[in-house]
Parts: sequence; C-alpha cells; structure tokens
Amino acid sequence: MSQQDIVYKSKINKIRSFALILIFVGFAFMYGGIFARNISWLMYLLFIFGILSIILSTVVYFWIGMLSTKAIPIICPNCEKQTKMLGVVDACMHCRQPLTLDKDLEGKEFDEKYNRRSYRKKVKEKLN
Ligand SMILES: [Zn+2]
Repeated sequence: MSQQDIVYKSKINKIRSFALILIFVGFAFMYGGIFARNISWLMYLLFIFGILSIILSTVVYFWIGMLSTKAIPIICPNCEKQTKMLGVVDACMHCRQPLTLDKDLEGKEFDEKYNRRSYRKKVKEKLN
C-alpha cells in the first residue's frame, strides 16, 4: 500500500466496517466450534464466543443507527453528494474528503485531535 492509499475514513464507515468484521469473527468462531466438536467444552466455548461477537455486532449496528440520527447531514463540497458528519472533523463517506464544521480549521491538516471533548467545547462556545 502506498502512502496515498492511507486516506481518512468517515467515522460512520469506520464503525460499519468494524461491525462487519465482528460478524466474520463470530462466524469464524462458530466454524472453529464445528471442527472442535470432539472436545465439547471447546466447542461450546467457541460457539459462545461466536454468538457474543454477532450480538456485539448487532449492538454496534444499532449504535450506528443512533449516531446517524445525531450526525449532521451536509453536502460534500468535493463530490457534491450528501454525507454525514460526526464531530467537528470527519471525512466524506463517498470521496473521503476531510470535512470540518469549524471555519477556523479550513485548510488545516486533518487531525483527530479536533474531535476531543475539550476542543469541541471551545468550538461550541464560539458558536453560541
Ligand atoms: Zn465527498
């Protein structure tokens, strides 16, 4: 992978991929359980892990749904598609263009630190 490929990912997309990975991990555990069927405690353990991963993934998907309602819908200035923003800085879901809600940060290097609570508070104070 070249340096150029490391681009910012929209937070919603990031969480979504995490939930998807959890589902695969869950299935992998259960698949392992089938192989371990001769050792019953191991089989049960793997099945329990598998089910837990899938439950966790459902919870994460639910959480994304909740976050999406709170996210701010905006039109991306780069690809002109609608995207959703979480926090003060986020990336476009379609073209991964770094976006910000704070005018002072425009043109600045994309940095996750702007999503820290202390910084967000400062921005909020400025907006009020
Ligand atoms: Zn875009």
